[in-house]
Amino acid sequence: MADKTAKRGKLVVVGGGIAGVSCTEQLASQFPSEEIVLLTAAPLIKAVTNFKQVSKTLEDFDVEEQPCSIIEKKYPNVKVIQSVVKQLQAKEHKLQTENGKELHYEKLCICSGGRPKLFIRDSPHVLGIRDTDSAQELQKRLSKAKRIVVIGNGGIALELVYEVEGCEVIWAVKDKAIGNTFFDAGAAQFLIPCMDTDKPERATPYKRTRYTTDRAAPTCAPSAEHGKPNQNPDSAEKLGSALGPDWHEGMKLRGAQEVSRRVHVEYQCEVLKVYTAEEFLNSQHESQESSQCGLYPSSETGLWPVYIKLTNGKTYGCDFIVSATGVTPNTEPFLQGNDFAVAEDSGLKVDDHMRTSEPDVYAAGDVCTTGWDPSPLWQQMRLWTQARQMGWFAARCMAADLLDEPVELDFCFELFSHITKFFNYKVVLLGKFNAQGLGQDHELLVRCTKGKEYVKVVLRQGRMVGAVLIGETDLEETFENLMLNQMDLSAYGDELLNPNIDIEDYFD
Ligand code: FAD
Repeated sequence: MADKTAKRGKLVVVGGGIAGVSCTEQLASQFPSEEIVLLTAAPLIKAVTNFKQVSKTLEDFDVEEQPCSIIEKKYPNVKVIQSVVKQLQAKEHKLQTENGKELHYEKLCICSGGRPKLFIRDSPHVLGIRDTDSAQELQKRLSKAKRIVVIGNGGIALELVYEVEGCEVIWAVKDKAIGNTFFDAGAAQFLIPCMDTDKPERATPYKRTRYTTDRAAPTCAPSAEHGKPNQNPDSAEKLGSALGPDWHEGMKLRGAQEVSRRVHVEYQCEVLKVYTAEEFLNSQHESQESSQCGLYPSSETGLWPVYIKLTNGKTYGCDFIVSATGVTPNTEPFLQGNDFAVAEDSGLKVDDHMRTSEPDVYAAGDVCTTGWDPSPLWQQMRLWTQARQMGWFAARCMAADLLDEPVELDFCFELFSHITKFFNYKVVLLGKFNAQGLGQDHELLVRCTKGKEYVKVVLRQGRMVGAVLIGETDLEETFENLMLNQMDLSAYGDELLNPNIDIEDYFD
C-alpha cells in the first residue's frame, strides 16, 4: 500500500502479544516510511504464523514466540523496545517507562492484554497460568505433586485437566456442567468420558522453534535513544504475553504418581477458604466436627501443603491450587490521571473504530471491551482470534484516521467464530453457540454419536443463530453460510441434522 503520509509523530503500540504485534505489522505495512514503535514488557513477542482463512469468518493459525529481531528484520521500520510502561499522560501524548524514559506519540494503541484473575492474591500455594514463565512454574511444581485442585471452568481449565497426567486432579466448577464458557451440558456429557481414558500418543513431534527468556541473552535490544532494557526483570516476568494455542505441546505436564489420569469434578461450588497446613490443623482443633476431606486419602505425612474448602462443604488437601478463573485487563499504568471510559469487566471501552475515550488512544485485544452495538451473531470473548482481528483492525482505524479516510467495522465482527481443540477433538463455535442473550426465544437441535461427534444448532424463529460442532463434522462452512444469510429453515425441521442427508448439497 502506498505511504501517503508526510513525516509525522510516532505511531506507538504497547504490548508484544497477538493484538500488539498484529497492530504493529499492519501499521508497518501501511506506513513503510514511518517508524513504528512497539513497546513491550516481555523479552519475546508473539507472532501469528501459518494463518489460514478456513471459511468466510473462521480462521486458524499458530502463535509463535519470537525474538524481537524477527519482526524488526521483516519490517525495517519497526523498532521494538523492551520496557514496561509505567504511566500514560494522555493529554500530553506521552508515555513514561519504568526505566525513566519518555516517549511521545501521535497515535497510540494499547494492547497490554490481561493477567490471571486469581481468586486469592499473593498465596504461594495458588498459581495462575498466563505466560510461558507461569506454565513452566506449573510444570516444575507438578513434577513433585500427587494432587492438585483446579478452580475455573473456561478453556484453560478444560485444557489443563485433560493434559495433566500422573497426578490426581480435583476440578471445582461453579456450574452444573464442565466447560460452561464454551459448551452446554450435552456437549459436556460428550466430553466427560475422555477424562477417564488414556491420552492418545501424539503422532508428530512438536516442530516449531521455541525460544526461552534467558536473561543472559536478551532477545529485544534496547535502543540507544531509550536507554537500558527493562531494569526490573520482575515486572517483565509478571507482564508476559498470554500463551498461544499449543502452550502445553512439547511440555510434559506430569505429576509424581503412576496414575495416567484421575480427575474428580466438584460441580456448582466455589472456593470458601484456603488454609495452610497449620491453619487447617488449628481449624480442626477449634471446630468439633471434622471437615469432609474429599474422596482421596491425604498424603503420607498426613498433611498436605495447602487445603481448600469449597462452598459445597468439602475440603481437599493438595500440593497446590491452579486458579484458572479468567483474566483481568492490564489497565493500571494507563488509568491514573486520564479519563478513560472503563467497562464493567475493567476493560478499556472502545468504539467501532477501536478508539478509547481518550483522543488518539486506541486499544485492542484482552485489555479492551467493545462498546459498540454488536451484530446479533457476534460477542466479544478474550480469545487469540479476536486479539489478532482487533489488533489488525485497530491499525486500519489508526491509519484511516491519520489519512482522514472512512473505515467500516470489519466483516470479522459480523459472526462470532472460533476454532480450537478440546480433549483432542476439533471444536468449532459459531454465532450464539450457547444461545447467549436469547432467553427462551430459541430452540435447539442436537445430533450426537458417542466418541465421534456432537453437533448442536441454535435456531431462533426458524433461522440458525449459533452452532457447536465437536469432532470432524465438516459442517462449519454450510452452517456459517446459513447464519450469515439468515435463511428461514422452518420447513426442514429435524431433517437439518439428519446424518443421511448431505447438507452441503442440500443448501448449495
Ligand atoms: P497478551 O498476549 O496478554 O499480550 C499483552 C502484552 O502486553 C505482553 O507482551 C505484555 O508483556 C505486554 N504488556 C502488558 N503490560 C505492559 C506494560 N505496562 N508495558 C509494556 N508492555 C506491557 N485463546 C483462545 O482463543 N483459545 C485458547 O484455547 C486459549 N487458551 C489459552 C490458554 C492460556 C493458558 C492462556 C493464558 C490464554 C489462552 N487463550 C486462549 C487466550 C489468548 O491467549 C488471549 O486472548 C490472547 O493471547 C490475548 O492477546 P493480547 O495481545 O490481547 O494480550
